[in-house]
Amino acid sequence: MNLLLLTSDDFVSDSLVKLQGRQLQHVLGVHQAKVGDTLRVGLVNDRMGEGIITGLSADSLEMEVSLTEQPPEALPLTVLLALPRPKMLKRSLQHLTALGVKRIVLMNSYRVEKSFWQSPWLSEEKIHEQLVLGLEQARDTILPEVVQEKRFKPFVEDRLPAMVEGKRGLVAHPVGGNACPHQISDEVVLAIGPEGGFIPYEVEKLEEAGFERIHLGSRILRVETAVTAITSKLYD
Ligand code: SAH
Repeated sequence: MNLLLLTSDDFVSDSLVKLQGRQLQHVLGVHQAKVGDTLRVGLVNDRMGEGIITGLSADSLEMEVSLTEQPPEALPLTVLLALPRPKMLKRSLQHLTALGVKRIVLMNSYRVEKSFWQSPWLSEEKIHEQLVLGLEQARDTILPEVVQEKRFKPFVEDRLPAMVEGKRGLVAHPVGGNACPHQISDEVVLAIGPEGGFIPYEVEKLEEAGFERIHLGSRILRVETAVTAITSKLYD
C-alpha cells in the first residue's frame, strides 16, 4: 500500500485521524512505522497529502493529516470486461483501478461461466475492497464506478451506443482487426473478452455499435495483461 486511503469516518477532528484494522496492521507490519513518521494519505474521492503519526499502539494509529494535493489524472478510458473468474476479477479490478480507469462495466458474454455471476466477489462490498487496494497501490483517491451488465444483447443494443457516443470504441480480439493504435488522445471504450475469447456474433454486435477490432499481435495474453498492454499503447 503506497497510500492510506481514508474515509470521513476516520476523522476524529478536522485534521486528526484514527485508524484500526487492516490499515493499522499494514502500518505496523509492513511500514514498521513509529511515532513521528510521515505516511502518504488520501481522502476517498478527495485530496491527498501526508499524515504524521502522533500515536501508535497495537490497536490504534493516530495521525495529524494535511490534504493539499489533487489525485492523479484519470485515464479517458471506459473498460467493458467480460466477467472473469473470481480470482482474475479481483486482480483485474485492482489493475484497472491502479491504471486510472474510472468506469468499468462487468458484462456477460457467451463464454463467461454462468456460475461466475453468483460469486460473492461481485457484492458491492467485495468490489469496493478491490478498488481500494488499486487506489492504495497507485496513490489515487477517486473510486471507479463499476456497473454489472448481466445480459450481453440488451446492454450492447440499448445502453452501449450512448456510452460510446463521441468516444472511440475498440474491441480487443486476437484475430481479424488492425494493430492496437498508439499514443492517441481520444476517449476510448475498450471491450476485453473472457478467457475463451468473444464469439464472432459478439464481435459483430460490438462492431454494429461502432467498435473497431484491434489486436496486440499473435500472443494470447491474460485479461489483465492485455488490458495493461493496451492501455500503455493507447496513452502515453
Ligand atoms: N482464447 C481466446 C483468447 C482469450 S484472451 C482466443 O483465442 O480468442 C482474453 C481476452 O484478452 C481476449 O478476448 C481479448 O479481449 C484479450 N486479448 C488477449 N490477447 C490478445 C491479443 N493478442 N490481441 C488482442 N486482444 C487480446
